[in-house]
Amino acid sequence: MYTYNPKSMDPNEFINDAEIKETLAYADAHKNDMALINEILEKARPVREGNGCHCRGLSHREASVLLACEDPQVLERIYQIAEEIKLAIYGNRIVLFAPLYLSNYCVNGCVYCPYHLKNKHIARKKLTQDEVREEVIALQDMGHKRLAIEAGEDPKNNPIEYILECINTIYSIKHKNGAIRRVNVNIAATTVENYKKLKDAGIGTYILFQETYHKESYLKLHPTGPKHDYDYHTTAHDRAMEAGIDDVGLGVLFGLELYRYEFAGLLMHAEHLEAVHGVGPHTISVPRVKPADDIDPEEFNNSISDEMFAKITACIRLAVPYTGIIISTRETEATRSKLLRLGVSQVSGGSRTSVGGYAGYTPDERPHDTEQFDVSDQRSLDEVVRWLMENGHIPSFCTACYREGRTGDRFMSLCKSGQILNCCHPNALMTLTEYLVDYASPETKEIGFRMVEEELKKIPRDRVREIAREHIEAIKASNARDFRF
Ligand code: SF4
Ligand code: SF4
Repeated sequence: MYTYNPKSMDPNEFINDAEIKETLAYADAHKNDMALINEILEKARPVREGNGCHCRGLSHREASVLLACEDPQVLERIYQIAEEIKLAIYGNRIVLFAPLYLSNYCVNGCVYCPYHLKNKHIARKKLTQDEVREEVIALQDMGHKRLAIEAGEDPKNNPIEYILECINTIYSIKHKNGAIRRVNVNIAATTVENYKKLKDAGIGTYILFQETYHKESYLKLHPTGPKHDYDYHTTAHDRAMEAGIDDVGLGVLFGLELYRYEFAGLLMHAEHLEAVHGVGPHTISVPRVKPADDIDPEEFNNSISDEMFAKITACIRLAVPYTGIIISTRETEATRSKLLRLGVSQVSGGSRTSVGGYAGYTPDERPHDTEQFDVSDQRSLDEVVRWLMENGHIPSFCTACYREGRTGDRFMSLCKSGQILNCCHPNALMTLTEYLVDYASPETKEIGFRMVEEELKKIPRDRVREIAREHIEAIKASNARDFRF
């Protein structure tokens, strides 16, 4: 019998089934307890502290009560606070990135993914270094600065040496004014030794989705291959942090299990990282099961509605205010639009989810033969950037913290010290200007330059505003790039 202990290194104790079940029972028992709900909502609100602001977050139990509450007025307040937190901590900036699929060879049997070993009709492909180069040039030519590399688990085809070589290649390419400045890595759970190698290669965030926190379901959904080992998979982030990677990303694939169970498990995982390593997850991703080759989402009977998806995202925002929330092009423009207001801080744009999906294709062409899932938002990066600005968001290509060695809990320190508007904001404007000058369509440029002018005025410190303006002028007038605070 396992007991709940967030500090334990045994996943059966920090993601404790009995604790999740008790949490859900507690949430059901209190979902109409308005006194408690008001207290929880009050705790979640951002509090001004000097020039900055501070958010206390919520425990998995508190957040589960909000998620269980069906009162429409409470839902409105949850949305309102999520938006307040989003604005207080992240401002109106949205960070952009793109996935880069390196290889779809995989020895695992994940039943929801078309790359599973037994899928014999999907084409298998692994990029050569020349192909990585072509893909990266295509991504740089779109304007991307931040990538998330993806590869199936296959010790023969995709050993760690291959991943390291690809990272090296990606960072080495400087095409025109382009550069990939941050490579996040989404590969299978591995050893501390391999995580150290990834750290030495200069990765940004190490991302690994749990898929489901329900152990019994996990074992059924991952019937074969190394990923079947629930304990090894669930402790991967601990090993990555032990290896010195401060920024790790969590995620569940909503639709596989009951969403309330997943929600509590996800927050318990975040609490565990905080309790053991002193830093919570850098990001949380919220993907939903999507159609793909050999995969029918109807087979998974836990799919969630758009409304519930929005509520889950908002409740995550309240619970872990300093953790970035990522939403991918799995979701439609309409869903992404709604979630941006509720706390999402990063989106992918112009994504291709196949191996070799960028180079040699026009924005309207889309190879499907090695695709991992159907992309719902098929707009180009330029369209996504314009759409963000038309909706009042600043598209940001900033990678400054990681490159200045500010990792781990620096975001919380930046927020508390009130330096967001003197740091993230000018960085966003400078990187947006780079994008506008080098890659944007005339229409996007026009909206963008106007936005940069307006947003510059919001930088509180005179000296920072002046420097940012000088850098922006230099970007416009020359090939000088990569200014940052
Ligand atoms: S989810 Fe990952 S590990 Fe599972 S089959 Fe797909 S690529 Fe392989
Ligand atoms: S300055 Fe740091 S925290 Fe702010 S947007 Fe850039 S990378 Fe993120």
